[in-house]
Amino acid sequence: MTLLSDLQQILPADRLSATQADRAQHSKDQSAHHAVLPDVVVWPESTAEVSAVLKYANARGVPVTAWGAGSSLEGNPIPVRGGIVLDFTRMNRILAIHAADFQVTVQPGLFYKDMNRELAKHGLFFPPDPGANASLGGMLANNAAGTRTVKYGATRDNVLALEVVLASGEVIRTGSRSVKQSSGYDLTHLFVGSEGTLGLITEATLKLYPLPEHFSAATAAFPTVKQAADVVYEVIGAGLEPSALELLDATAVEIINAASGFNLPVAPNLFLEFTGAGATALEERMAAVADICRSHGCLSFRAGVGRDERARLWEARHHAFEAHLRYFPGQDYIVTDFAVPISQYPALVAYASDTMAQLGFKGSIISHAGDGNAHVAVFYPPDDAALYERVQDFNARLVRRAIELGGTSTGEHGVGLGKQKFMELEHGPGALNVMRQIKRLLDPNNILNPGKVLALE
Ligand SMILES: Cc1cc2nc3c(=O)[nH]c(=O)nc-3n(C[C@H](O)[C@H](O)[C@H](O)COP(=O)(O)OP(=O)(O)OC[C@H]3O[C@@H](n4cnc5c(N)ncnc54)[C@H](O)[C@@H]3O)c2cc1C
Repeated sequence: MTLLSDLQQILPADRLSATQADRAQHSKDQSAHHAVLPDVVVWPESTAEVSAVLKYANARGVPVTAWGAGSSLEGNPIPVRGGIVLDFTRMNRILAIHAADFQVTVQPGLFYKDMNRELAKHGLFFPPDPGANASLGGMLANNAAGTRTVKYGATRDNVLALEVVLASGEVIRTGSRSVKQSSGYDLTHLFVGSEGTLGLITEATLKLYPLPEHFSAATAAFPTVKQAADVVYEVIGAGLEPSALELLDATAVEIINAASGFNLPVAPNLFLEFTGAGATALEERMAAVADICRSHGCLSFRAGVGRDERARLWEARHHAFEAHLRYFPGQDYIVTDFAVPISQYPALVAYASDTMAQLGFKGSIISHAGDGNAHVAVFYPPDDAALYERVQDFNARLVRRAIELGGTSTGEHGVGLGKQKFMELEHGPGALNVMRQIKRLLDPNNILNPGKVLALE
């Protein structure tokens, strides 16, 4: 029997496809990692269906890779060993809004922008906001973060409880709806960030926040990336608590100007936002920021960005990656994701900027600067093997330096395929060995997203 006909015995026909088009749609994320076709795509509609598929797959050693929106940037959902892709997009319901407790319980296939639209009716929102309209399952599995993380934390910081289907098909629940939890090993946060390699998330309870009533936003341009980055360090160090603090280099600004009709000075820019407190307190904070910017030689400082323009700025920021793809058509690319303690951020981001210029690479820096996290995007022709090696070497240099400075190879995109080579350097053989043992305990037949996070045979 083929895999498809086996699965037809377990699930209704409309849950399955082995067409070339559906397989191709689930073969590749948004990175430049190579596509690999799954054998079958399954759209489960309940936890029981997920469990039934895993029971079957585990008994036969069939690989199962979860799929949310496919927007990852490290090859995370590419089914590198074929088998089944489980696409969660039909499990996309809000199960309960606990408005009085600032919580929501959701299925994993819900996209976070759709959830936030619904939550806004209750004056609430879930802050982690990766640019792409990701699914909550994918955000949990990658521990996604975004422009608001500097104030509200990453996805991991905002999850209280999960329902998870293990490789065996057993369904477990982790955590609780209490915001304080001190009971036993923290399984919830083990599954978050595990990229679908330890279990599949079928339900999650998340923390929410009231939509801020007041905000103030500004843009500031600087002669150099280093000067802009020094401001980031001072703003954070002064306890000014921005709700967003992003750094874009001159190339990124040029691309955003061209794509979205802005007229920002083509120079390194900071996008800053403060929310929450009353209007007067916000004005005072903005005045303090302006002083810091001036003391670092800012070329222009525009405060008082209005609500509409602020929305347009963030929209443009969130679509910056697509704008880059249009600006560098037909090119392959690598997007670094290193993160370091904020005190080390100015030196490392300046090093990245200077080195990219010296090497003559085409690309830009877009950075969740307030978190010490930077994406250096480098574009190169797909057929230039020598240049590809030089770009990989540049990425490795940045990662190694980030780790030396007490940071990480990936702040938010996850390990996927691209960061595996740095795992031992970052974690050391002892911790890596514990990770391998956890993987073997939870997934002894290595069926869950095999080939990702850890190299296991
Ligand atoms: C333009 C652009 C901008 C981006 N900006 C950011 C950013 O600012 N911050 C950021 O963090 N990321 C960013 N990303 C990367 C990406 O959007 C995030 O990693 C996102 O969390 C992926 O979600 P997804 O739904 O697309 O998941 P997918 O890519 O489909 O899957 C991601 C991983 O989750 C696993 N998975 C999916 N569903 C489940 C489940 N139910 N249970 C267990 N495992 C599951 C998959 O197997 C895979 O390993 C960006 C991507 C793009 C294209």
